[in-house]
Amino acid sequence: MKEFAYSRANGVREALVMVAEQENGRFLGGGTNLVDLMKRGVEAPDLLVDVRSLPLAGVREDDDGDVVIGATTTNSDAAAHPEVRRRYPALSQAVLAGASGQLRNVATVAGNLLQRTRCAFFADLSTACNKRVPGSGCAALAGVHHNHAILGTSPSCVATNPSDMAVSLMLFDAVVHYETLDGEGEIPLSRFYRPVGDTPHVETALPAGALITSVRLPRATAGERSRYRKVRERASYAFATVSVAADLEVRAGRVHEVRIALGGVASHPWRARIAEEELRGGPAVPERFRAAAEAELAAARALPHNGYKVTLARNLIQSVLTEIAG
Ligand code: SF4
Repeated sequence: MKEFAYSRANGVREALVMVAEQENGRFLGGGTNLVDLMKRGVEAPDLLVDVRSLPLAGVREDDDGDVVIGATTTNSDAAAHPEVRRRYPALSQAVLAGASGQLRNVATVAGNLLQRTRCAFFADLSTACNKRVPGSGCAALAGVHHNHAILGTSPSCVATNPSDMAVSLMLFDAVVHYETLDGEGEIPLSRFYRPVGDTPHVETALPAGALITSVRLPRATAGERSRYRKVRERASYAFATVSVAADLEVRAGRVHEVRIALGGVASHPWRARIAEEELRGGPAVPERFRAAAEAELAAARALPHNGYKVTLARNLIQSVLTEIAG
């Protein structure tokens, strides 16, 4: 591993200054992804600024009734918080479906949002990867890609985002708050992740040098019936093949409100807005759920080995909505 300097910041501004003054400085949270990638030589910062002692941990309710999760809150603490479990159960379920108990105890909420793809070629320095080395090509297109994306891909990259948490945060219209040396800012999660296009190495809309300070869950999008279901290749400690976060409100047998987000299918958590639109106002029956899922997935572009994800996503959407409706 390349040598690097390590500093512990005592305040948010101090952390921002430290990273701004070092050309290749990075913030360090739990380090469960960043440090792994440093060991492989994929990431090579000159300075790590540890932000875990900053006053950014904890879950609270603000004056508007929104739930605010601090950036350095561990995944375990976020999932266990009573208000998260009661008002945003799909978020709690998603977090608990990810990684292992040990990892969740150190991984942070902000780090979860910023984790990199688990495409094997991205982590293998001997292969071509546009995300790791822009313009070098994409080894996955002609390689092993059964776990790669089917929606929103480009010829430059077909990697998926590995976060379970982000899928449920997308369901609840979460907002990411950050701080830079110029002040505070916020980005809805729906605009946080950039489309792949021909710049797959540019993953988020965060300004350069910004430090995520919290993630806000609006009161208006709370969903006590919401669910997160994840299909994976083994029962635990595996990334999603396909996952679905959904919330559904049925009145007099018709869909009054519905929200659906998918994981494991795109470079970012995928909000299924076409399916949502198809469903609103119509009968809340499995046949309609299936048709709406098919409408959403009409834009899927499968590779030779990942076409099964189209069927899997359709069936999973239908199954989760049917479960909530029931
Ligand atoms: Fe790299 Fe993306 Fe291709 Fe994977 S899919 S090799 S991350 S460019």
